[in-house]
Amino acid sequence: MIEVQQLTKRYGSTLALDGLSFRVEPGRVTGFLGPNGAGKSTTMRALLGLDRPTSGRALIGGRRYDELSRPLCTVGALLEARAMHGGRTVHGHLLGLARSNRIPDERVGEVLETVGLADVAHKRAKGLSLGMAQRAGVAAALLGDAQVLLLDEPVNGLDPEGILWIRGLMRHLAGEGRTVFVSSHLMSEMALTADHLIVIGRGRLLADTSVEDFVARN
Ligand code: ADP
Ligand code: ADP
Repeated sequence: MIEVQQLTKRYGSTLALDGLSFRVEPGRVTGFLGPNGAGKSTTMRALLGLDRPTSGRALIGGRRYDELSRPLCTVGALLEARAMHGGRTVHGHLLGLARSNRIPDERVGEVLETVGLADVAHKRAKGLSLGMAQRAGVAAALLGDAQVLLLDEPVNGLDPEGILWIRGLMRHLAGEGRTVFVSSHLMSEMALTADHLIVIGRGRLLADTSVEDFVARN
């Protein structure tokens, strides 16, 4: 489960997050909705220990990311900024991630099957289409069989088939009881994907509600 408590982040004179608090429950897809610049990526980066908040806390399973002993086995993430190194093959990249998290090598083949990349696993990452690169990122997120998944704008740049695929995958992962937290700036996308919504604007919480209620009121 994810818990953000009074999270504040300043970049110089920009207040990116302004005392943001919410929880994300397991067993459903929670959409993180807000316009560009609202603070979604900043929140995701704080949860993943990539950015130090100015104040407040961002916890996964009650712990800070840097306190996790095998991070990839607790939380899997798809972030644009975490694109794969171009020179490595998808297989090589995943194998490195697996070994640094003490995940068995066999798991790499399994996740490559899950995301439909088994055939291109030995191509260099820089030769992949955007859709394939997104699938490779999803494979990395699934590698540790984590109960918590963070996906920052996962449908960006995907073709229609890829969008349907990733929606189905998120529904499936939530159905298994996992915590799925997915950001988007598109209400239309969230209405089709999420059960619950955390809505933010200018770094503040605007709504924490079911998708049905949000659609009925807006
Ligand atoms: P979103 O993901 O919702 O589009 P961001 O979290 O990327 O929003 O950005 C929130 C605010 O913080 C924006 O005003 C953005 O310009 C600013 N910001 C984000 N990252 C940085 C950074 N590294 N340096 C300065 N400002 C930043
Ligand atoms: P390095 O890039 O120095 O080898 P890491 O071992 O932390 O550092 O990460 C290797 C690559 O694995 C990163 O460039 C990133 O693409 C990817 N990565 C790391 N952690 C995650 C994660 N939680 N989810 C998805 N990809 C990740």
